[in-house]
Amino acid sequence: MPRFRWEKAWWWLLLGVGVGLGVGQLAAWVGGYVRPVVVFPLLVGSILGQMLVGGIRLLDLAHRPTVGVGLLLASLLCAGSEHWGYYRQAQRDYERRVADWQAKIQGLAALSSQFAQAIQQHLPPPPGSFTEYLQVQLDRGRRIGPWLLKGHWVWLSWLADAGFVLLAAAGLLWPTLGWPYCSVCESWYRSVRQGRLPPTDFAPWAELLALPVARPQPAPPFRVQFRLLQCQGQCTPGRLELVWEDAAGLHTWQTQLDDAQREKLEALWKAASTSQEELPSPPPPPPTNQEISSR
Ligand SMILES: [Zn+2]
Repeated sequence: MPRFRWEKAWWWLLLGVGVGLGVGQLAAWVGGYVRPVVVFPLLVGSILGQMLVGGIRLLDLAHRPTVGVGLLLASLLCAGSEHWGYYRQAQRDYERRVADWQAKIQGLAALSSQFAQAIQQHLPPPPGSFTEYLQVQLDRGRRIGPWLLKGHWVWLSWLADAGFVLLAAAGLLWPTLGWPYCSVCESWYRSVRQGRLPPTDFAPWAELLALPVARPQPAPPFRVQFRLLQCQGQCTPGRLELVWEDAAGLHTWQTQLDDAQREKLEALWKAASTSQEELPSPPPPPPTNQEISSR
């Protein structure tokens, strides 16, 4: 279990606040045009979740309760920020409409102060404060499909929206917490080396790692991909992941390497890179007529 760290928690919550407010504003901007029920909050939540995944990688944060608190905070702020965005839109709409009116009746209002007053009374009411705006939304109701929700049902629908945001973000964040993590230097494992192995190079690897590969060597098409992961402090020899495909299908395999295995792997890599360097380099292609004429 990773330890709790104040400095990481502090940065994480700060990041959660910033990301939550920012994604909420983005959601309000898009939602002002189109906002399909359920799908929209799930989409917003997946954007929020991806940014939070970036956050825990950046901060090397794996303490689950801290992650949970930040996720909850970010989701609630995201939902709140979205409503604030709609409120600001309503304010701007109102100001635009008043300006339009005033431009149209400028000449007429100058003739009579009574007429100007009458016009003022016919203008739509301003959105008022944020709470007043929310109250108007409750009274007016929210249409979802064939239903018109009113009063506390609107509140419940907003809570459900926030819940979908949280659910989608958690769906991305939680599997990330299962990634290999080093509790000694408190960092996530990073990919330090990856590549493809030609089938001929696979035999020594299979022997070294005691891989469950049927012999004789599988014939092409046979592809192997490897990835070596290590924590930032390089506390362990690393973790090796292999994916290979043969006639039987796709296989994945992973192991925590020991010092001897890592040393032998390094030797295999070195041998492979020197054998590649020994290959004669192909002659440069002859210049085409176009290249010659442009010189
Ligand atoms: Zn480490």
